[in-house]
Amino acid sequence: MQNAEWFDAPDESGEPGLRFSCTMCGNCCTGPEGYVLVSNDEAAALAKRLGMTVPDFLARYTRETLRGRSLIEHATVFGADCIFLDREKIPGKAVCGVYEDRPAQCRTWPYWKSNLTSRWAWERARRTCPGIGQGPRSTPVQIRIARDVIDI
Ligand code: SF4
Repeated sequence: MQNAEWFDAPDESGEPGLRFSCTMCGNCCTGPEGYVLVSNDEAAALAKRLGMTVPDFLARYTRETLRGRSLIEHATVFGADCIFLDREKIPGKAVCGVYEDRPAQCRTWPYWKSNLTSRWAWERARRTCPGIGQGPRSTPVQIRIARDVIDI
């Protein structure tokens, strides 16, 4: 039997689980310099999408970090934006330019281990992510599946 987690408990609406709906604010794709981890398979998919060879993609769009290979960022007035964050396409919004092929780190936000250690950690993430607490509810099983995709 899996360990009980704080998000198994019913919230004020009487249901367990957590809510999230992306508002296209871009906050999870910028901030202080960090990393957007990209696996070999993800790099291959992104290279294909961009019509590049994998070595060219790796050389142009990634760098090595202490956590592994990451997409590069570039400095903007908002912070260190992921190189694929597009702030032009929709006025006032920030959208992923490679959405269908975005890495697991992006696909699983905000259900990261670091955000799920406690309700406090979840509330801390909520301070920068206006989509947390909004939209459809993910069940505890769905949250566990997303959480366990990547160690972050
Ligand atoms: S790949 Fe897309 S979703 Fe991931 S950080 Fe970059 S812009 Fe954001």
